[in-house]
Amino acid sequence: MSGGFVIFTDLDATLLDHRTYSCRAALPVLKKVEKKGIPVVLCTSKTRAETEVLSGKLGLKHPFIVENGGAIFIPDGYFPDSYYKLLGLKALKKDNYRVIQLGTSYRHLRSALKMMEKTLARKLIGFGDLSRREIAEITGLSQKEAELARRREYDEPFFLEYSPEFALIKRTGQPGKRKVQGKAGIDELNKRKVISGPSLGPKAAREREKLFRKMKTVARSRGLRITAGGRFFHLTGHNDKGRAVRILKKLYRLGPGMMITIGLGDSENDWPMLRVVDLPVLVARPDGRHLEIPEKGTQLLRTSRPGPEGWAEAINFLLGLQKHASSKTGSAAKRIKRR
Ligand SMILES: [Mg+2]
Repeated sequence: MSGGFVIFTDLDATLLDHRTYSCRAALPVLKKVEKKGIPVVLCTSKTRAETEVLSGKLGLKHPFIVENGGAIFIPDGYFPDSYYKLLGLKALKKDNYRVIQLGTSYRHLRSALKMMEKTLARKLIGFGDLSRREIAEITGLSQKEAELARRREYDEPFFLEYSPEFALIKRTGQPGKRKVQGKAGIDELNKRKVISGPSLGPKAAREREKLFRKMKTVARSRGLRITAGGRFFHLTGHNDKGRAVRILKKLYRLGPGMMITIGLGDSENDWPMLRVVDLPVLVARPDGRHLEIPEKGTQLLRTSRPGPEGWAEAINFLLGLQKHASSKTGSAAKRIKRR
């Protein structure tokens, strides 16, 4: 592993298209990155089962971070065992991995979600309340993929009653049975751009923000956290993408040579990751806008294109800088269009 860079990347609406989950637009650049020996670390709210499949499809043999920093999976032998000892990390041997667990158990999160529902007097629908078919319908995943998405260990994605996602699932009146409105419904919602938060009308966005703050307070009182992903809210313990990335950064930096970290994401749950990397990249949301970042004045690169096209645009740009910087270190970095 070398190339001077490590890339930490979110998946949904960053490396993968928000709607089709395809990363085709980023593939040529991914190949280039692989050829240069630059590690690509997937850092996602997806489960281990989902991430493992995707990592395999992309031919990646690097660590990956799952369920919003709930755990880090590192291929066994990727780092020398002595590195874990040196950093005081508990890296459990599991299957062919060394696993660093940072999250709260799913069982605990599920019972907390039910208690929050009572406190807020709002129906909160988590993945644990849904069937495989329903998850497939609201996410656009295939049923097989939805099954992998259900295998949660450290993060419960959820949405609110009367949200666009809720509109896709209609109760039939029979307990435990719901009528799903079908793919046509999600296509319609996507067309109207109402699924992602930033695309809501001003009044709805304000209400969502108010409720989001309230939910965060209730979760905090239970020692938990709520973040907003591109599609769902996420209930987790005190893990986040940033904490997991910091640990991997330390492990990579025990190796020889300089290691510059790049982070790419589009949503609020990516912010902790973007804060701890050297070169943060904010990928445009599906509607072309960017997440309003919580810390004003932070310098980061914003892509003009959303999803994998934006991913490719940013990596191409940064790799170009690397080439240029080898002769003019410093002056090239200043050319990054920063806001
Ligand atoms: Mg995302």
